[in-house]
Amino acid sequence: MAVKFAKRLDNLEGSAIRELLKLTARPEVISFAGGMPAPELFPVEEMKKVSVAVLEEQGKIALQYTTTEGYKPLREKIAERMNRKLKTNVTADDILITSGSQQGLDFSGKVFLDEGDIVLCESPSYMGALNAFKSYQPKFIEIPTDENGMIMEELEKVLEENDRVKMIYVIPDFQNPSGRTWPMERRQKFMEIINKYEIPVIEDNPYGELRFEGEFLPSLKSLDTKGLVIFLGTFSKIFCPGYRLGWTCAAPEILTKYNICKQGADLQASTISQMEVNKFIEMYDLDAHVENIKACYVKRRDLMLKTMEEEFPDCVKFTHPQGGLFTWVILPENVNASEMAQKCLEKNVAYVPGDSFFPNGGVYNCCRLNYSNMPEDKIVEGIKRMGEVLRAELEK
Ligand code: PMP
Repeated sequence: MAVKFAKRLDNLEGSAIRELLKLTARPEVISFAGGMPAPELFPVEEMKKVSVAVLEEQGKIALQYTTTEGYKPLREKIAERMNRKLKTNVTADDILITSGSQQGLDFSGKVFLDEGDIVLCESPSYMGALNAFKSYQPKFIEIPTDENGMIMEELEKVLEENDRVKMIYVIPDFQNPSGRTWPMERRQKFMEIINKYEIPVIEDNPYGELRFEGEFLPSLKSLDTKGLVIFLGTFSKIFCPGYRLGWTCAAPEILTKYNICKQGADLQASTISQMEVNKFIEMYDLDAHVENIKACYVKRRDLMLKTMEEEFPDCVKFTHPQGGLFTWVILPENVNASEMAQKCLEKNVAYVPGDSFFPNGGVYNCCRLNYSNMPEDKIVEGIKRMGEVLRAELEK
């Protein structure tokens, strides 16, 4: 074809997860691949009533354009929840409603990155964010992690050695893909370092409310005294992803830039979706809904971990997340998780091989498993089948 595409697309490929999801849509497939919530927990009956109420009471507003920053009653509720749950001190004016937090990730790249700028991220990190940033042609430096998340000494070293770091992307709570959470000391040390170098931080927090056990830890945003943290939140995991509603919370000078991006991208998030989610929070109890979600996921996590203990060889290690949707499995170095994924797919089991979570590549023996989406019998059956494939791989 003679058409010439923009240079920014040169290094962009479709997401491996999105490709895999096409295969896993077959009903016989046991999928640990997507980051999907349990559909049986979606409040379908409640939303029928909510949508009738919105249309009857405020139909002409719901079907009209609204402001770019979003429907104010919803932004007020988000601010109230953030202050109560995450110990921030924000108002509706600090919030811009986006199309999922994914759009906030794309805007982060648009707002901060010029070609060749450096983005720091955890190693591994969320592939969807890395792909969103890639279209702005940055370089990635991966900061090594341990069981407690990003290693602060390594972060400091990289910041000392590089003067083109424009943005740091982190997921401190129940990280995607590793399920790991930063303890308090790391959060404090991180903010100390950030305050010294004054670099904007994208705190991506879709899972923070889904803590099953252990003590509450304050968000980076709540520890931020200089307005450097840009917080991305979402209704996808505490409510439903289908509405595609998330939010960006940031200092006014920064939020204005995100607002300009939103105007260019799609003017505003869907008015009726925003009003329906707002109405749900008014008519029902979102906190109780989140408790139901946690009660379901903690059982599924326990079952997946227990079945892996029983079925996987001892040389296979995996994380024990205290919340969120994922566990991260580390296979022996000689096992290639992508090749193994093909063999698992032949047995109708799917997971995401870990290599795409490393922006600079080079790690082949890890995989991400999701435990929120499959019912319990399928979790057991899927892990058993994976165990068979694993044992065969190790015997090779
Ligand atoms: N950030 C992380 C870490 C995620 O795992 C996801 C979804 N899996 C997103 C952002 C995007 O979510 P959404 O756009 O549905 O809010």
